[in-house]
Amino acid sequence: MKASSAEYQRLRERMVETQIASRGIADERVLQAMREVPRHRFVPEHLLSSAYADCALPIGEGQTISQPYIVALMTEALELQSHERVLEIGTGSGYQAAILSKLARDVYTIERHAVLAERAQRLLAELGYHNVHVRVGNGTAGWPEHAPFEAIIVTAAAPEVPQPLLDQLADGGRLVAPVGPAGFQNLICVRKKGQSTTTRNMAPVAFVPLIGEHGWPEKEEGGWDWRFWRR
Ligand code: SAM
Repeated sequence: MKASSAEYQRLRERMVETQIASRGIADERVLQAMREVPRHRFVPEHLLSSAYADCALPIGEGQTISQPYIVALMTEALELQSHERVLEIGTGSGYQAAILSKLARDVYTIERHAVLAERAQRLLAELGYHNVHVRVGNGTAGWPEHAPFEAIIVTAAAPEVPQPLLDQLADGGRLVAPVGPAGFQNLICVRKKGQSTTTRNMAPVAFVPLIGEHGWPEKEEGGWDWRFWRR
């Protein structure tokens, strides 16, 4: 069911107040981006009435658009000031990329499912997020042509942070990623300083798996249960 744009605006204001600011997200630029990006455009038509609900939603191909609070939490941890080049692994719907595009100079985002990448690319262009660059491929190898990145965000769960992504992180850069097995991961924030890194645990989370070299194998006996991840 479609609502008016004023109604969607009201739903976004309420989402920011009750799900995001109330849980401690304080960066006003992040809160403002979350108020402005029309999340309902990034969810499937039949889920429009849940677009601003406090949960992840299915977007097809067994994948999800993340919960609004988790999008805000990961974005805030990147400490964007507007001059950065950001790399996102896992474009999915394109929603997280749209939020990042308001806070950074350029967003490079990689998605392994061509169907999702193409849909996200079309939608981002239609909505005017022209500083987002979408590519189909295995994001665990990063995007070396555009490295180094001041910020990297991985929106699928890896067994550990892929080494190519650490290599492509700029000195002083921040990387946020869910790390761990199916059903339970730690959201971590890695900060690079010279040749060393420091890691901070942020929150327990449950993401779909990062697939590929430097991620999880595509099919593993007794491994990922895709039906579980379709929640
Ligand atoms: N950021 C997305 C959004 O705003 O809608 C949500 C991403 S969803 C939780 C995780 C995405 O990572 C899925 O679309 C999945 O296909 C993608 N993915 C998994 N492994 C990948 C890989 N190796 N390279 C690129 N994308 C990958």
